[in-house]
Amino acid sequence: MDFSLPPEVEAFRAEVRAFLAEHVTDEVIERAHATGTMHDWGLHRQMAAEGWLSAGWPAEFGGQGRSPLEMNALTEEMYLSGAPVDGLGVASLVAHTLLIDGTDWQKRTVIPRILSGEVMCCLGYSEPDAGSDVAACATRAVRDGDEWVINGQKMFTTLAHEAHYVFLLTRTNPDVAKHEGLTMFLVPMDTPGIEITPVHTMGGERTNITFYTDVRVDDRHRVGEVDGGWKVMMTALVFERNSAWYGECVRLLDTAVAWATSARDADGRRLIDDPLVRERLARAAVGNEVANLLGWRAAWMAAEGQLPGVEGTMAKLFTTEHYQQAADDLIDILGPEGLRRHGEPGAAADGWVEATYRHCQVTTIYGGTSEVCRGIIAERGLGLPRSRSSR
Ligand SMILES: Cc1cc2nc3c(=O)[nH]c(=O)nc-3n(C[C@H](O)[C@H](O)[C@H](O)COP(=O)(O)OP(=O)(O)OC[C@H]3O[C@@H](n4cnc5c(N)ncnc54)[C@H](O)[C@@H]3O)c2cc1C
Repeated sequence: MDFSLPPEVEAFRAEVRAFLAEHVTDEVIERAHATGTMHDWGLHRQMAAEGWLSAGWPAEFGGQGRSPLEMNALTEEMYLSGAPVDGLGVASLVAHTLLIDGTDWQKRTVIPRILSGEVMCCLGYSEPDAGSDVAACATRAVRDGDEWVINGQKMFTTLAHEAHYVFLLTRTNPDVAKHEGLTMFLVPMDTPGIEITPVHTMGGERTNITFYTDVRVDDRHRVGEVDGGWKVMMTALVFERNSAWYGECVRLLDTAVAWATSARDADGRRLIDDPLVRERLARAAVGNEVANLLGWRAAWMAAEGQLPGVEGTMAKLFTTEHYQQAADDLIDILGPEGLRRHGEPGAAADGWVEATYRHCQVTTIYGGTSEVCRGIIAERGLGLPRSRSSR
C-alpha cells in the first residue's frame, strides 16, 4: 500500500506552508490565545488575497479548482501552523451551502463577498434546549408580507461578534413533525433586535449567546424552501470539518517533545530519556498517525467522488478522543509546573500543554458529540438499529 500523496498535492502543501510560516506570527497566535477569538482579520484577508479562501472553488467563482486532496493539505497545514482559522472554516461552509441551496441573488451577492474575505459568518443552530437534537429548535420565524419576524435565543454562536451574517435555523411551523417545520435564514448581524452576550469557556475560547427580538428580515434572506430548513442543515453538516484537530494533536506532541528534550529531573537526566516519558510520547505519536490516516482516507474518498459521511465522522471521533487522551498523558509528565498557565513565570512548556489540555475538552462536543458520532457510525456504517440521535 502506498500512502504517499501525488506530487501536485505536496507542491501545493509546500507553497501553503511557506505562506503560513511568514504570516502566522507569534503575535497572531498570542492574540487568538488572549482573546479566545479563533479568527484573525489580517490573516483572513491575506489568505483571501492569496486565493486560498476560494482555492477549492471553480474558476467561475474566481477559484483555483483545487482537488479535495489539495484542500485537505491546506486545512492540515493551517492547523499545523497554529493559525486561528475557525472563521475561515465557517465562512467556507456557508458559501458551499449557498452554492447548493441558495438563490441566484444570494449566490451573486453573498458568495463573492465571503470568498474575497470581506464578510464572515457564524452558525446559529444550537439553543439552550436544542444542541445534539438541533431539530428541537424553538426560535420562531413568522411571515409578515415580504418579511419574516424572528424571536428567540441561540446558545454558543461562536464568532457572532465578528460576523456579518448568522446562518440561522428557525421554526416556521410548530404543528408538524419537528424536522419538517424548520426554515434557514442568512440574517445580517446589523439587523435591529440582535443582541450578543459573550461566553468565555473553560478552554479559553470565546463564544456567545445571541438574542433575537422582533428581528425583521426580507424574504430574500431565506435559504431553501419554507419548512425545508432540515434539508439545508443536512447540506451544511456535510461541510463541517472532520479531522482538523490532527494539526492540534501534532502541535501538542511537538511542544511536549521540545519540553522533554530540555527539561531535567532531580538527578540532572533529560526527561526524554525516561522510559515512562518516552512511552507516553510514543503513544501520542501513534495516535496522531492513525488520526492522520483516517483524515486522509475521508479526503481520498471525496477525491474519488464519494461522500465520506461515516468515514469523516470516524476521523472526527477518533482524533478528538485521542487528542484528549494525549493531553491527559502529556500534562502528567510535566508535573505540578505543567499546571501553570501560558505567561505565568515557571510554567512548564510555556503553559501550552496546560492551555491545550483545557481547550481539547470541547473538541468531543462541537461538530457532533462523541456519543452522537458513535450513533452515526453504528447506524450508517454498521447498519445497526436507529437510535434517537438526529445530528
Ligand atoms: C465552545 C463551543 C462552541 C460552539 N459553537 C457553536 C456554534 O458556533 N454554533 C452552534 O450552533 N453551536 C455551537 N456549539 C454547540 C455545540 O454544537 C453543542 O454544544 C453540541 O451540539 C452539543 O449540544 P449540547 O451542548 O446542547 O449538549 P446535549 O445535546 O444536551 O448533550 C448532553 C449530553 O448528552 C449526550 N447526548 C445527546 N444526544 C444523544 C444521543 N442521541 N445519543 C447519545 N448521547 C446523546 C451528548 O453526547 C452529551 O454528552 C458550540 C459549543 C461549544 C461548547
